Amino acid sequence: MDQATLILIKPDGLKKSLTGNILTRLSETKLEIVAAKVARASEELAIEHYKHLKDKPFFEELIHYIKGELHDRRKVMALIYWGEGAIIKCRELAGATNPEEAEPTSIRGAYGRITTSGVYENVIHVSANDQDAEREIQLWFQPDEIIVDLYPTKIITEKTDKIRVWG
Ligand code: UDP
Ligand code: MG
Repeated sequence: MDQATLILIKPDGLKKSLTGNILTRLSETKLEIVAAKVARASEELAIEHYKHLKDKPFFEELIHYIKGELHDRRKVMALIYWGEGAIIKCRELAGATNPEEAEPTSIRGAYGRITTSGVYENVIHVSANDQDAEREIQLWFQPDEIIVDLYPTKIITEKTDKIRVWG
């Protein structure tokens, strides 16, 4: 069954110039990239994305981390990988959450670290299951930014919305 997963190259991955390395590793999966962009995690988006961890002692630091405030890179690279077994394939390549427990050859094992404040800077996010993937993809992407139809959509008319166009 084709499956979608959200991938984020986190701010430490961008700061360490690892985008190319990470995408090369992920290409081993032979999955298809169906959306990609550089995006900024607002406070709201960061909190929503990690809301399952809001009671953890490291939550506040994690929000600073994903917003890019620890790396002077206020952005992430967001991608959607799509295909057979996308989640397990990408999570296997990513490795364990704790970079010190991750396989040394995995992305997190090779490039991650634990900061002195205890946050796992593990360079990449991969959705954990289908339900998380759907929720996270809908947080980070609009339907028209994705070249396949992943989830149901609807058309709405927004008369009061102002949009920016090229000048
Ligand atoms: N994290 C952390 N310390 C922990 C657990 C998680 O710093 O003890 C951070 C880490 O950056 C991780 C993110 O919080 O990637 C989300 O945690 P989750 O348990 O969802 O792990 P993941 O799905 O990213 O492997
Ligand atoms: Mg997770």
